[in-house]
Amino acid sequence: MQLLSPACRIAPASAFFSGPLTVDVLRLDEVHPVVSGNKGFKLKKYLEAAGGAGKSTLLTFGGAFSNHLVATAAAAQVQGLQSIGVVRGEEPAQLSHTLRAAASYGMSLHFVSRAGYRQKTIPPSVYEQHDPESIYPIPEGGYGALGAQGAADILRRPETVAYTHVVTAVGSGTTLAGLVSAAAPHLSVTGIPVLKNAFSLHTEINRLLPAHKQDDFALQWDYHCGGYAKYTGGLLRFMNAFYERTGIPTDFVYTGKAFFAAYDLVRKNYFPAGSRLLLVHTGGLQGNRSLKKGSLIYG
Ligand SMILES: *Cc1c(COP(=O)(O)O)cnc(C)c1O
Repeated sequence: MQLLSPACRIAPASAFFSGPLTVDVLRLDEVHPVVSGNKGFKLKKYLEAAGGAGKSTLLTFGGAFSNHLVATAAAAQVQGLQSIGVVRGEEPAQLSHTLRAAASYGMSLHFVSRAGYRQKTIPPSVYEQHDPESIYPIPEGGYGALGAQGAADILRRPETVAYTHVVTAVGSGTTLAGLVSAAAPHLSVTGIPVLKNAFSLHTEINRLLPAHKQDDFALQWDYHCGGYAKYTGGLLRFMNAFYERTGIPTDFVYTGKAFFAAYDLVRKNYFPAGSRLLLVHTGGLQGNRSLKKGSLIYG
C-alpha cells in the first residue's frame, strides 16, 4: 500500500461563497484512508530518515485525540516498522477511538503524566520492551524541518500555480511552514490556528522557514471556537451547510474552523476582488466520530 497517492482532486466550492472570487478545495482528505490529509506529507521525510539510519521502530508523542499518532502507527505498519506512542495523561479506563485505532495498527502505547509529557521524556516502560538503538523519535505533531520539507510537496503540483491565496488549518504550524516554503512569490498563505492563545506559534513557524520567507504568512486568530477540539452550534451548522452546497465533508477540530474562517474572511472582503483561493483540506475526518450521533448530516 502506498502512503501518498499521487492523484489528488481539486474540488470547486465557489457556489458556497459570495463575492467576485473563486474558491477551490485541495482534497488531501482523499489521499489515504488513514494517513489522511497533511499527515502523510509531514511523515514522509521522517520515514526516509529512519530508514536511512537503519531504525526499525518509530516513536512519537500525542494526546488521546492525536491524528498524528494514529497516522504514525498506520505509516509504520505500511512500511513494516514497529511503532511506539507516548500518550499524554494517565491510561483511561476506556481508550479513545483514536488510540484504539493506533493500537490496531500495532502501536504500543505508553501513558505518561501530563508533567512528564511536557518534558517529552521517554518512559522506562518503553526501554523494557524495545532496544533503544532501534528507536527513531519523531517530534510531537511532526513539528520540525523534516516535517515542513515533506509538507512543502503539498503545493508542488502544477495546478496550484493558478491560485493567489492558500488557506489552511494550523496546529503545530509545520504544514503552514511547508506551504510558505513552497509558495510562489504571488501566493499568499493564511493560517487558521485551532488552538486558543498559542502565542508562540508565529515564532515556531518562523523557525521552520528560510531567512527570505520569515513572516511571509498571516495568522487569523479568531476562529478557534473556544479552543482545541472545542466547537459551537454555529460551527456544526456551517459544516452541514458547506457539505450540502459542495458535497465536501469537514472535521470539527481543524478543517471546519479553517473553512468557516475562509467564509467569514471572504464576507469581510479580506481577499481582494478577483482572488483565486485554494482551501487545503488537511483531512482529520475520523475525528468527527467523537461528536454526538446526528450532529452532522454526513457520516
Ligand atoms: C494535524 C492536523 C492539522 C495541523 O497540522 P500542523 O502541521 O500541526 O499545523 C490540520 N488539519 C488536520 C486535519 C490535522 O489532522
